[in-house]
Amino acid sequence: MSDVRNVIIIGSGPAGYTAALYTARASLKPLVFEGAVTAGGALMNTTEVENFPGFQDGIMGPALMDNMRGQAERFGAELVPDDVVAVDLTGEIKTVTDTAGTVHRAKAVIITTGSQHRKLGLPNEDALSGRGVSWCATCDGFFFKDQDIAVIGGGDTAMEEATFLSRFAKSVTIVHRRDSLRASKAMQDRAFADPKIKFIWDNEVAAIHGDPKLSGVTLRNLKTGETSELPVTGLFIAIGHDPRTELFKGQLDLDDEGYLKVEAPSTKTNQTGVFGAGDVVDHTYRQAITAAGTGCSSALDAERYLAALA
Ligand code: FAD
Repeated sequence: MSDVRNVIIIGSGPAGYTAALYTARASLKPLVFEGAVTAGGALMNTTEVENFPGFQDGIMGPALMDNMRGQAERFGAELVPDDVVAVDLTGEIKTVTDTAGTVHRAKAVIITTGSQHRKLGLPNEDALSGRGVSWCATCDGFFFKDQDIAVIGGGDTAMEEATFLSRFAKSVTIVHRRDSLRASKAMQDRAFADPKIKFIWDNEVAAIHGDPKLSGVTLRNLKTGETSELPVTGLFIAIGHDPRTELFKGQLDLDDEGYLKVEAPSTKTNQTGVFGAGDVVDHTYRQAITAAGTGCSSALDAERYLAALA
């Protein structure tokens, strides 16, 4: 059993590293669990990031995360490339258990575990991520000016991505597994009215092609079994996200989709001394800058909480 820390941060994306930077500069000596295989978070899987303020010419995702990590470390954040496998957040002193079974104790915990975009589960999907395959139109749409793009999905997110992309693209083809959409009526109407958007119903993606960049997909009709080729240079997969909240079930309030509930505009959860920030809370904006912003808020909330205890 370790000494009682001021604050433990679980997760190492823009939210976690920003919370680490702020709590470290407040002399709280944060311990940060970065994750065993995915330290640095979602941006480790992308190429150019052009919309994080402060980088006039853009920056590669892994370089941005390396900078954030180094900045937090410079002020004394203790970074551990390990997963948290169990937590007890209910008492005044919280406990966090690592993969070796060591129990770490803290007065405050900040959760920044992010969310995982759902994948199609096809070969090539990861290899072509950032090379034509994307999960975020706001992030990557600009790279696809005058190109032919496919959007996979039938919900609000898919419609939103498609209508956003049609501003840049030559054409946008929405591919959906069923013959009707799940999206709200308003979102559907916008997509149907857009002359650049067309629909392919009852189809799924059977294969993704391209080397080194995406060149097209094979579609399979789920009613007839027939396959067809769709030549596209952009593939936006919009079939949902899963917040990483499994560990906290039963201890923290989650919404219907499993995201961490906070007392917005603060980052307080239903347990005193436990704060949440970034994509594990946010299913609306999902950007690096918004994750960093709420990471900052969570650090300030934790600082104030600890100051009130003293
Ligand atoms: P994440 O970045 O997801 O980080 C969460 C971290 O927590 C991970 O490192 C994970 O390993 C760790 N973790 C989870 N569970 C545990 C545990 N039990 N123990 C320890 N650690 C744990 N946004 C932009 O603004 N611009 C872009 O250009 C852009 N491009 C993107 C490209 C791709 C391919 C993707 C997937 C996303 C992109 N985004 C972009 C979105 C952006 O990456 C996210 O909004 C942002 O990373 C969310 O930050 P976060 O800190 O909340 O979570």
